Amino acid sequence: MAQATMKRSATPAIRQTKLLINGEWLDPVEGGSFETYNPATGQVLAKVAAASAKDVDKAVKAARRALESGPWGRMDAAERGRLMFKLADLVERESDELAKMESLNCGKTINDSLADMQGVVNTLRYYAGWADKIEGRTVPVRGNFLSYTLRQPVGVIGQIIPWNFPLLMLAWKWGPALACGNTVVMKPAEQTPLTALRMGELAMEAGFPAGVVNLLNGMGETTGAALVSHPDVDKIAFTGHVDTAKIIQKAAADTLKRVTFELGGKSPNVVFADCDMDEAVAGAFHAIYFHGGQCCTAGSRLFVENKIHQEFVERLAEKAKERKIGDPLDPMTEQGPQVSKEQMDKILGYCELGQKQGATLMTGGQRHGDKGFFVEPTIFDNVKDDMAIAKDEIFGPVVSVLPFQRVEEVIERANRTFYGLAAAVWTQDIDKAHRFAREVKAGTVWVNCYHIVDTTTPFGGFKMSGQGRENGEAALEHYTESKTVTVKLK
Ligand code: ADP
Repeated sequence: MAQATMKRSATPAIRQTKLLINGEWLDPVEGGSFETYNPATGQVLAKVAAASAKDVDKAVKAARRALESGPWGRMDAAERGRLMFKLADLVERESDELAKMESLNCGKTINDSLADMQGVVNTLRYYAGWADKIEGRTVPVRGNFLSYTLRQPVGVIGQIIPWNFPLLMLAWKWGPALACGNTVVMKPAEQTPLTALRMGELAMEAGFPAGVVNLLNGMGETTGAALVSHPDVDKIAFTGHVDTAKIIQKAAADTLKRVTFELGGKSPNVVFADCDMDEAVAGAFHAIYFHGGQCCTAGSRLFVENKIHQEFVERLAEKAKERKIGDPLDPMTEQGPQVSKEQMDKILGYCELGQKQGATLMTGGQRHGDKGFFVEPTIFDNVKDDMAIAKDEIFGPVVSVLPFQRVEEVIERANRTFYGLAAAVWTQDIDKAHRFAREVKAGTVWVNCYHIVDTTTPFGGFKMSGQGRENGEAALEHYTESKTVTVKLK
């Protein structure tokens, strides 16, 4: 899976478009379907089966049976782990094809897709290792009793994921859910249904019992909503837009099911004058333009200390102008298309709004080419905190540069948002770095680096950027129920 070693080759075959329910590939009960696109060309790639509420019900019943009367519920934890290791091996075997499919359907560059596949393998192996290490405790209770805790699966988990990291988000959700012994009904994003279908095939090849993982493509308002409101789903794990999370939380209230959310951000990336300038310029560039800005942790609010502001922005703009935009399957490409026309139009709308509201457009601001959904890397300078481009999550290659003067001032301004997913600081001064890390309200803080996310470290948001944590040991808490058992001793 080395970077840029893959040859450009024929389009990967799309073998599967149906619903995976109870270990079988089925047509939807009501025959629904939708088209999925190649965002680099705008052309249709395939027609994919769309699940209705009836299919959701079938899948939830299959997941319940697999949990309570199938082999999964009685399986040794180590054996669960073995199946997960096997799946990781299969992903490794197929990673070139999976990466190509991801690039084709999602538009991310082939190098980024290959890195994602390594992330998928790492995540599955990490949680496979956890499967037989999830332990309860004995508790020194008062009186002549023995009390101990068991950690048991939450049950049937509904998992709803977005389009920006389709397979990585699948792995972040399947990994801890399966390690803890739950069963899963997953709805991938309607923009990127294809690689999840291939993963369903690989899960069957690995030998997961029928009903342990079920995959239902479809629209959010129908398939997703049916999963959220289903009374026999115990928990919803969701990654997506903050407005969707509000709808889900309200809908989940009727059945009081557990919810965990990983939502958006408007992450502050703070550059002090005492930084290593070369590293900070490269880091700020990567922070915003990685995957065309389609990243919940994108460093979209770039605070630069006044003393270096002018030089910093000029250097950033030079790099932006040199960025190689184009075919995501070409290993030389640095930025592919945005995922859809809808996203491209939204981003271009913000580019117009930024200019109208008085920010200085340093570079970009336009569509790139006239085919597919490409947007130029865009830099707005002299942005004010109350401008829409400084407040809203744009989810595209658009950075707002906000000059600042003092440490206290920049911490206060960095925190002036209802988001709190990630933040970064660039400085050689350890006092400043640790002060910022302690005072910024964000689930992840990077010092002199950006976008370093590992399967071993907890990831999630403060404030409206989320509830709960994924990755690391932290995720296990959200996929187990704790049960206290107390025994009277004679
Ligand atoms: P984005 O703006 O990034 O597309 P969304 O929150 O709309 O983010 O989508 C993330 C996931 O949530 C997708 O799988 C989508 O289909 C799903 N989704 C959208 N609306 C709903 C809803 N009302 N109920 C459940 N899932 C939904």
